[in-house]
Amino acid sequence: IEAAFRERTPGSAELAAEARTLFPSGITHDARHLKPYGIYVERAAGPRKWDVDGNEYVDYFGGHGALLLGHAHPEVTRVAAEVMAQGTQFGANHPWELRWAEAVMKLVPSVERIRFTSSGTEATHMALRLARDFTGRPKVLRFRTHFHGWHDHMTHGVASQFDGSAAPGVLAGVAENALLADPNDFVGLRAVLDAHDDIAAAIVEPTGGSTGYTALDPDFLRALREETAKRGILLVFDEVVTGFRVAPGGAQEAFGVRPDLSTFAKILAGGLPGGAVGGRRDVMDGLDFDAAEARKRDKIGHPGTFNANPVSAAAGTTALRILAETGACDKASATAAALRERLNGVLKDRRVPWAFYGNFSLFHLFVQADRPVADPFAFDPLSLSATRMKDRPKELIRRLRLAMLVNGVDLNPMCGGLLSATHTEADIDATAAAFAEALAMLRRAGD
Ligand code: PMP
Repeated sequence: IEAAFRERTPGSAELAAEARTLFPSGITHDARHLKPYGIYVERAAGPRKWDVDGNEYVDYFGGHGALLLGHAHPEVTRVAAEVMAQGTQFGANHPWELRWAEAVMKLVPSVERIRFTSSGTEATHMALRLARDFTGRPKVLRFRTHFHGWHDHMTHGVASQFDGSAAPGVLAGVAENALLADPNDFVGLRAVLDAHDDIAAAIVEPTGGSTGYTALDPDFLRALREETAKRGILLVFDEVVTGFRVAPGGAQEAFGVRPDLSTFAKILAGGLPGGAVGGRRDVMDGLDFDAAEARKRDKIGHPGTFNANPVSAAAGTTALRILAETGACDKASATAAALRERLNGVLKDRRVPWAFYGNFSLFHLFVQADRPVADPFAFDPLSLSATRMKDRPKELIRRLRLAMLVNGVDLNPMCGGLLSATHTEADIDATAAAFAEALAMLRRAGD
């Protein structure tokens, strides 16, 4: 499989060799780490992308989730280019940031006030700081496998995800103030909350850890809302992926649960860099000069050279309008459901005991040697504990990923992916054919 991959991608191999002399591991984002090397892409449009060797891929990486409208959406890129030609950074307020804020607030009613950041990581960082400031409490509660970026409070070391220890380079004192609970464990949740009366916020990926790879029971989300409200703990929905994807109003619209604060990024900025934190006005007042003066204490500082960058603001405003007008979320979700069904059909035909699952416009692959799936259609993701993330057969998944690349499909590092509204029936056909061929390659290789 690796030989076939190398044969198709000599240009990527050459760039990867150079990259190893420049970047640790030769990469610029952990999720782009792939052995022997990842593809180098030079062009993308709609659901497809092309590498430097001219190979075409059906893309399910989806710009790490930023591309609900597909790559290089003509209207979004046109507006961004027009704004860019007028300047990329004014060092001043600008009209686009107002339109951007209004677009978010229209879609997400829990956002009464908003602040734009440059990334999702900055947004979750600020959300936790706002919560600490508002409640006067030090601790935050997070859930095993839930990802919120890489700042110190949300360390994403492999071990720290499971035992709560500090990831490399993070102060133990910071990690100690980030409590860990197991998703879907109602009893465990209450026990953690009962044991600590100094929790400022609970932060959660509302469709489950790593965008639903470890599924979250919507009843658990409702229980979390109830329990946190009772205790004066702020509930933060990290909608960096789910925002404007699972529904125009995000997971909070899809599940009818209203958080105190929400964080956004990715789709928010229409495929450009950008993030935001928004929510209750009284909590967001932690950032307000006048409110701080009235309280006779410091406000939370929030500089940031590229906060509400005009190009991102224009692209984001345009993307949010288009996705709301065109039913893009539902379209992508429907295509994803059809894709999951087709891929499970391939598994069933070949009697491979794995399963594709997921909801909305996402799909994930369950492949665990010790837990064969008799019927992929009867597979219940909620039956899996969060530790499965640790137990997955990484080498097999790597080889499947390479085999899919050889057959013209780019999946995420766990062999799942995200769809856009531009993915079509033809893409599903191509993906199902590629998957059948990839399974045959694995079988020939003895996997
Ligand atoms: N939260 C979630 C749920 C994410 O998936 C991510 C990024 N994958 C982040 C936060 C961090 O966002 P960013 O990469 O923009 O810093």
